[in-house]
Amino acid sequence: MKGRFKTLAVALAASCAAMGAPAVADNHAGPTMNDLLNDANSTGDVLTYGMGPWQQRYSKLNMVNTETVNRLVPVFSASLGGEKQRGQEAQPIVYDGTIYVTGSYSRMFAFDAKTGEKKWEYNARLPDGIMPCCDVVNRGAAIHGDKIIFATLDAHLVALNRETGKVIWNKEIGDYKAGYSATAAPIIAKDMVITGNSGGEFGIVGAVQARDVNTGELIWDRPTIEGHMGTLRGKDNGISGKTNATWEGDLWKTGGGATWLGGTYDPGTNLVYFGTGNPAPWNSHLRPGDNLYTSATVAIDVDTGKIKWYYQTTPHDGWDFDGVNEFIPFDATMNGKKMQLGAKADRNGYFYVLDRTNGKFIGAHKFVMQTTWADGIDQKTGRPNFTSDGRPGAPTGADKGEVVFASPSFLGGKNWMPMAYSQDTGLFYIPSNDWGMDIWNEPIAYKKGAAYLGAGFTIKPIADDHIGALRAMDPKTGKIVWEAKNPAPLWGGVLATGGNLVFTGTPEGYLKAFDAKTGQELWKFQTGSGVVGSPVTWEDGGEQYVAVMSGWGGAVPLWGGEVAKTFKDISQGGSLWVFKLYNQ
Ligand code: CA
Ligand code: CA
Repeated sequence: MKGRFKTLAVALAASCAAMGAPAVADNHAGPTMNDLLNDANSTGDVLTYGMGPWQQRYSKLNMVNTETVNRLVPVFSASLGGEKQRGQEAQPIVYDGTIYVTGSYSRMFAFDAKTGEKKWEYNARLPDGIMPCCDVVNRGAAIHGDKIIFATLDAHLVALNRETGKVIWNKEIGDYKAGYSATAAPIIAKDMVITGNSGGEFGIVGAVQARDVNTGELIWDRPTIEGHMGTLRGKDNGISGKTNATWEGDLWKTGGGATWLGGTYDPGTNLVYFGTGNPAPWNSHLRPGDNLYTSATVAIDVDTGKIKWYYQTTPHDGWDFDGVNEFIPFDATMNGKKMQLGAKADRNGYFYVLDRTNGKFIGAHKFVMQTTWADGIDQKTGRPNFTSDGRPGAPTGADKGEVVFASPSFLGGKNWMPMAYSQDTGLFYIPSNDWGMDIWNEPIAYKKGAAYLGAGFTIKPIADDHIGALRAMDPKTGKIVWEAKNPAPLWGGVLATGGNLVFTGTPEGYLKAFDAKTGQELWKFQTGSGVVGSPVTWEDGGEQYVAVMSGWGGAVPLWGGEVAKTFKDISQGGSLWVFKLYNQ
């Protein structure tokens, strides 16, 4: 029998060739590196986290626009099912008639893009004792060739066959028993899959790792804490920075700086940009110095795995102002000069513009109501002007130190949820939050696998009418052009389109569309649970589609303190929603 099938296959192939069948796109081989680099321009698919290596989250599609958006209706909703209904922070990937989404508890799903029918589901077998700090979320996958790749809560990276959901390779990023985990979407650069790590609240050591996308084998590893040795193809590759230059004693060995939100890739400069989280422990009095490279952006050469430049947004962080926020490349003319720039809306409440070729400071602008910890950013040095009473006090003996009110809260002026940049308006659309906290320091010692904070906190509202605010920021002037307030904290990503629209979700359950120029709310749809995922758009058969994940969760319900009353009635969920225009 076996032989007969083979003969038949050969005969069929031969007859096709004889008939001179026209070459059709071989989607079976899957997207190539060039396809990924071109993702921002290819409107028929969504191949990368952020909709392009720069992650601007912009599509030039304009069938859905300010005039037509009121006809946007659901095509289908697909449930992730099971009892694992927690925060759904994923961004869908769309390729060749399939939508891939990751779900809470390290799951991945493939759905038919037209019907919502499930093609396959993968459930990572997670060990007992995983230590995700902030819900069991996942933010998305990377696609390349026959593979779809995502990171799991036990700090593994798993490559699945995108047509079958079967495991091709599975590699450990870090030891989950020491507090390592992973939730970010991997990125692909030069056929390498590049990831960060999570666990800054457990005294892990932040790092960026590059692997061969075909085998998962480690190519380079670059620690983001000063003093640690990097590797390239199994050999030592130089220490990050200079040991003990910005850390005292052995503190750098458990220094935090987790790269937990992943990175962006700029093929032009050959750099990947990764944000780094808080230094560990939170209690800053225990670790004098700037504590490089925590609460910063680091630019790493894709070929050498070495840090080319860094920019620290919160030196000697004492408020858990993780600097992980995405660094988004964009080109603009500033003062008559064409510049290669990058922008970041930091957890500390300031929006930074840097020269992305060398990290040089261009400008920083407050994008939230209040920053108590600093009174602006020094426009010459780029360092914050710390306020004298903004830092929580040092503990005395076994007693906690002086409590201070600090704003933004540790959950940030902006947290993980990615902003968008519109090439039409030249504006960044920042999903931000206005909230503060009481924070204090406590004594703490490092213990493997235990929380390493040395601090306590209670989050508090600071405005009567809102916590969330979607804000349109002009990166050239630092002006906020418009804002749209929201009662509950915003926790979802943003999408900008050529239809002069900006989409984002709310914990109250809505996916909303705003006029990109004015901020006027034009459309909303209730998805049945909080929206904390990132919307995407693509076209197929002459129609424009919009998709988003619904499913309330993430860090806010775990750590929300006094702001919890704004979201106490929100139901949990776990579903993919897909929309298109209703045609009469
Ligand atoms: Ca595309
Ligand atoms: Ca943190």
